[in-house]
Amino acid sequence: MNSIENHNSDVIIVGAGNAAFSAAVSAAEHGSKVLMLEKTEEKYMGGNSALTIHMRFAYNSFDDLLPLIKFPEKPNDLSSFEKKISLLKDIVTSYSELDYLNDINKVTENKSDKNLSKELVSNSLSTINWMNKLGHFWTPTFENPTSANVVSFDGKGYGLINRWKKIAIQKGVKIIYECPVIDLIEQNNQISGVVVNYKNQNIKLFAKSIILACGSFESNSEMRAKYLGENWRNIKLRGVPHNTGEGLEMAINHGAVPYDDWSTCHASPQDYNRPNFDLPGENKSGDYWSRYAYPFSILVNQEGSRFVDEGETWRGLTYAKTGKAILEQKNQVAYQLFDSKHRRAGVLDNYKNPTVIISNNLNDLANKIKIENINKFLFNIDNFNKNISSNFYNPNILDGKSISNITPSKSNWALELNEPPFEAFPVIAGMTFCYGGLKTSKDGEVLDKNGDIINGLYAVGEMLGGLWYKNYPSGGGMMAGAVFGKKAGEKASIK
Ligand SMILES: Cc1cc2nc3c(=O)[nH]c(=O)nc-3n(C[C@H](O)[C@H](O)[C@H](O)COP(=O)(O)OP(=O)(O)OC[C@H]3O[C@@H](n4cnc5c(N)ncnc54)[C@H](O)[C@@H]3O)c2cc1C
Repeated sequence: MNSIENHNSDVIIVGAGNAAFSAAVSAAEHGSKVLMLEKTEEKYMGGNSALTIHMRFAYNSFDDLLPLIKFPEKPNDLSSFEKKISLLKDIVTSYSELDYLNDINKVTENKSDKNLSKELVSNSLSTINWMNKLGHFWTPTFENPTSANVVSFDGKGYGLINRWKKIAIQKGVKIIYECPVIDLIEQNNQISGVVVNYKNQNIKLFAKSIILACGSFESNSEMRAKYLGENWRNIKLRGVPHNTGEGLEMAINHGAVPYDDWSTCHASPQDYNRPNFDLPGENKSGDYWSRYAYPFSILVNQEGSRFVDEGETWRGLTYAKTGKAILEQKNQVAYQLFDSKHRRAGVLDNYKNPTVIISNNLNDLANKIKIENINKFLFNIDNFNKNISSNFYNPNILDGKSISNITPSKSNWALELNEPPFEAFPVIAGMTFCYGGLKTSKDGEVLDKNGDIINGLYAVGEMLGGLWYKNYPSGGGMMAGAVFGKKAGEKASIK
């Protein structure tokens, strides 16, 4: 008998990203013997979760954040760190559950499932505290203390995933790598196991509950073209190439119902020359290729025209829809334009070795980036420059420095583009993940077309549908994975 058949488990978890580990550790804490099955090699484990930075959660004051923060051990580093922390303490106020819900409703045009979003928000801080007790730490996001994401994972997503792995193993969870799940087993109206392809053999593994946490279909070009549209077939991934949608298909074949918007997804502005995908720990992953200074820029297409309100609000509430806007432009490319005032203001400090075209002259810059109608481009810039409100420019707050009598408007951070050198950063859309998933209960139990629970089957993380529509608040995906993963692990163990 192949050794993996000897794993006698109560709960099988499919995948080894954040949602999977949250479910696995929670199930183990509730007395289950847990087996995790991951498609990739161990060195590439962690899925998209390993490329992330933070979770968005509600907090009442800085006092809720302080216990999460890992302080440096070296005395020299400690004193400067403590000074920064005390400055931060003066700036950070609260991010209430209502603020969080309002942000979700605003960005999803009020279409986020009300029960799920309320569950996410009201369990966010308690789930963070659970993670903290398990051994997870955060670090302050000193760069942008006034946005909702004031702390990020210590060691980013890669650090988080490696901590999850250690915690899970300590709790007795077994993880098998290079073990893709290819089907579910159904017996007597109950999902009772999975079929894996392990070392070229199809093997059946049984358990009382199966928790699917194996991502959405963002890495599958056929499914992208089918559900999102032909434009998305050849898009570069901002994440891993492993989330190819078979988890969703398997569940649907066994009676699960697709839920909410399978035609929209998360895609963000990326460097024109970014690689086709990222792998945890390789490819300079994470946000190395992200080009997120666009709220401060003038963003134009190949024709030389603006096409979005670049400064609508905080970047974390607009970036996930900006990729699609770029994909819809001619040649599927856009150019973020800045001048020396932006450089001095520090808004480009996060761009490390970017693709950039520089010139002292706007006409020459337009020629270099092959703007099709240079006269129109120069007119657009001039018109923009002449219509800026007199508010004081401040990239650290929503400064209201706007243009309003031009379409599209720019609601914040409108600065004249008139002081050379001028810099143009070509950007493309990078696919992050798909918003469509499966219909579930608030505990991640998968529901059928009658709204009844499919016994033994759960779906969490990217696979849980209904939370996101057209757009998304940064940090919501990882938080949802942890909240619903934890709940599913507990429910699967108690049942
Ligand atoms: C570059 C980048 C940065 C991001 N930053 C953030 C952020 O800062 N905050 C935030 O909230 N969200 C962020 N996101 C989104 C976030 O990554 C996702 O919302 C979240 O990781 C989803 O977690 P998950 O556990 O569902 O999926 P994943 O972490 O992708 O895990 C899925 C796992 O399932 C495995 N798998 C797939 N198919 C199978 C199969 N058939 N059998 C077995 N295993 C399988 C995969 O290999 C993978 O390990 C970011 C995404 C990217 C790409």
